[in-house]
Amino acid sequence: MTPPSFEQFTISLKTPVGEVSTAVGVPTSFVPVASIVPLARRLGEEAVALEEARTRDTGDRISCQKGCAACCRMLVPVSAPEAFALREMIDGLPDERRHAVLQKLNTTRARLEEADLLARLTALGETESPLSDDEMEPINREYYALRMACPFLDQETCSIYEHRPAACRELLVTTPPALCDDLLNNPLRPLPVPIRVGPALALLWSELKQCAPMLIPLPLAVEWAHAHSDEEQEVWKGAELMERLLAKVGVLLEQEFAHRKTQTAPGS
Ligand code: SF4
Repeated sequence: MTPPSFEQFTISLKTPVGEVSTAVGVPTSFVPVASIVPLARRLGEEAVALEEARTRDTGDRISCQKGCAACCRMLVPVSAPEAFALREMIDGLPDERRHAVLQKLNTTRARLEEADLLARLTALGETESPLSDDEMEPINREYYALRMACPFLDQETCSIYEHRPAACRELLVTTPPALCDDLLNNPLRPLPVPIRVGPALALLWSELKQCAPMLIPLPLAVEWAHAHSDEEQEVWKGAELMERLLAKVGVLLEQEFAHRKTQTAPGS
């Protein structure tokens, strides 16, 4: 088989915390949408690193560190491209490990069914009318009330760290760790997120497929990807995926600039 060839690009993005600049190799061939996930994550991580540096410069300390997995009991939303990438990663695991992961996903599914959440969470990945943040609030609360560990959490450590969703990479707080005992009711101070990678990928998928920009609950993402495996096989030119993704990132960056402006406006 001929190895894929790549075209080199340097991407520069102006974010509210400074410029993100990264060199990327984009496949010249037609590729599935999951191929764009590593690039999206890289941009997000570089922006988060700038936000972390800015936070430290102000004298604040980021509380999050290895071994603390308090936030791994929250409902994590993932975009369709991330769901496909996750399924691909799990499919490539050695048999024993893959069976263990799938078993955990089944156990989580059963627990969600028992808690009367399964149907509502499944619907989130199929809806043509995504719920607003306010509409998601009671679902998030019910889910968090279970204090159920993420199926990928193993001895309080993320077992898919390199492949974890963008939402997991973006949540950092400067409030004391003890406050993470109740993430929904305690007054946490999360770091602002310069580039929201999950929503950008959700918008990309929405445009490619002319569907709603839905976000899928992480425990059901692999199941969702299986159910949508025909779409997983569809391909687009690598450069087209990159350009479309950057356009979505640009839209979200504009919103973030505007949001931060209102936060710093006198009287806010
Ligand atoms: S994927 Fe990893 S980091 Fe994200 S919630 Fe699950 S265990 Fe935590």
